[in-house]
Amino acid sequence: MTFSDGRKQLPVVLPPVPDELLSSWIARHAGFYCVSPQAMLRHAVPNARSLKAADDHLTDEQAGLLAHIFRRETSEIRRMTFANTPISARRLVTAKAIQTCSTCATRNERADATAAVLRSWHQAWRIVCPVCANPLSAAGQGSGAERGDGPPSLVHPNDALNGERLLENYSERGVQTWVSPIDLLRLLLIRRDPKPIDPDHWIETPKILDLVVPGFDRLVAETGATIPTADRPILPLSLRPTLLAGVAILERSGPKSIVELHSRTIGPHHAYFGKIVADILTSNKPHT
Ligand SMILES: [Zn+2]
Repeated sequence: MTFSDGRKQLPVVLPPVPDELLSSWIARHAGFYCVSPQAMLRHAVPNARSLKAADDHLTDEQAGLLAHIFRRETSEIRRMTFANTPISARRLVTAKAIQTCSTCATRNERADATAAVLRSWHQAWRIVCPVCANPLSAAGQGSGAERGDGPPSLVHPNDALNGERLLENYSERGVQTWVSPIDLLRLLLIRRDPKPIDPDHWIETPKILDLVVPGFDRLVAETGATIPTADRPILPLSLRPTLLAGVAILERSGPKSIVELHSRTIGPHHAYFGKIVADILTSNKPHT
């Protein structure tokens, strides 16, 4: 087979593993046919920019071309990408895989797909694998069981799972309740008024999340973790259940609690908080 005909279908198509990312699937075919992943992509989509661009911004036309070459349905190709992820939720899609599922990785290895990378490994709002429901592990850290040495949990596991469900419904299906969980997550990571000062611990960047889940700031100080800003809210897997639980608790408590939290911010952080709240209120305004 040659690549001279850009429309030629592949004689052998490897089945994707559950939740496999498009670039991973293309790269595995590249390995099989001994070409570069880029060449494999361009065999189907001659004007494609990069594998990452295909994962993030695949157009219907490009999905159709890939579906033809790889003998699949267009909808199946689109589901392997982040093309349908709402723009605000893309803040939580990482460029590299930041976590893995050891159960799925082992199963994929047995299926001769050792190099497979799953979509969920790039989604920084997940704590549980969507394929097998086992806990995810931080990349390079082995199985979920080894995370027992991590920081103590400040939250009920159900709250964390409820928060994850809110994020999943929004990011994967565009469905939200009275508020976008991404907006709640951003509010929780805004800096709060440091008062009252913790006499035992100097808290460098006290967060709103500490008001919803008391003890969060102290835990962060003790573990030495760096908490990102609200614009790039990607937390280490060990601290993520606390953030997700904060989202679920805030969603449950309703708009009034957001007003109260706003009063606990100062200066530019107060203005930033107010801007996100204004966006929430605008999107909730009934259509006339
Ligand atoms: Zn899994």
